[in-house]
Amino acid sequence: MWWEIETAMTERREGVLLVVSGPSGVGKGTVIAGLLARQPHVQMSVSCTTRAPRPGEQEGREYYFVSAAEFERRQGTGELLEWAEVYPGVFYGTPQGPVTEALAAGVDLVLEIDDQGAQSVREKLGRRAVLVFVAPPDFVALRRRLTGRQTETPEGLRERLATARKEIRNMGLYDYLIVNDQIEPAVQALEEVLRAEHHSLQTTDWRGLQARLLAQAEHDEVASHG
Ligand code: ADP
Ligand code: 5GP
Repeated sequence: MWWEIETAMTERREGVLLVVSGPSGVGKGTVIAGLLARQPHVQMSVSCTTRAPRPGEQEGREYYFVSAAEFERRQGTGELLEWAEVYPGVFYGTPQGPVTEALAAGVDLVLEIDDQGAQSVREKLGRRAVLVFVAPPDFVALRRRLTGRQTETPEGLRERLATARKEIRNMGLYDYLIVNDQIEPAVQALEEVLRAEHHSLQTTDWRGLQARLLAQAEHDEVASHG
């Protein structure tokens, strides 16, 4: 039947853009890694940053490490979907091109960015971006995780905990909240968010399906009367 042939078209779906934010050290990276292990089709957007690589970080894997001048150039050309000065003098930004390509190809994409970046994405893309806030069960746990990771200088630690307060103030602006108390339930929750968003009208070509159903309804009516 003609509508069966059209089914493939109506099932076309854009990828889901999951924007994951929350205080540094809350476990965003850990929870996202858990999601990627369960859902290998999900991809991560690789940001560019002016900060220096940490031991073990690889160019193009965790970040594209660029100079301040190169970052400024990219800001100027509009090739960044969003960017922010996350810590004093340290810039981070999301390259636009790979995001557009992934979503158009139906690939689900995760952006792990700060709260300023998340709000910029919301302004640009509205509800087509899904904003997820990852919170710690309490502030003591946040401090413990951040110090336990041993990646920050005392100054870096202070900056991150100060920024955490600002981010926590904004959690009401998000679509979903995940409290990362135990890792596994938090990963499960993120997976459930992604699964739910697969049914969102924001990323589905629902107009095709609607047109087909209405055409069939008309056909059905004609047939039953005829
Ligand atoms: P973020 O990406 O938010 O900065 P990380 O994923 O790097 O945070 O996690 C910070 C530290 O906390 C890491 O050492 C990680 O192993 C640990 N961690 C993450 N989630 C939990 C959790 N639920 N319970 C205890 N420790 C955790
Ligand atoms: P880190 O230096 O620990 O890798 O990251 C520090 C902070 O920068 C985290 O809160 C992370 O979410 C944020 N961040 C990473 N990439 C981007 C980005 O492209 N844009 C924005 N706005 N923030 C980012």
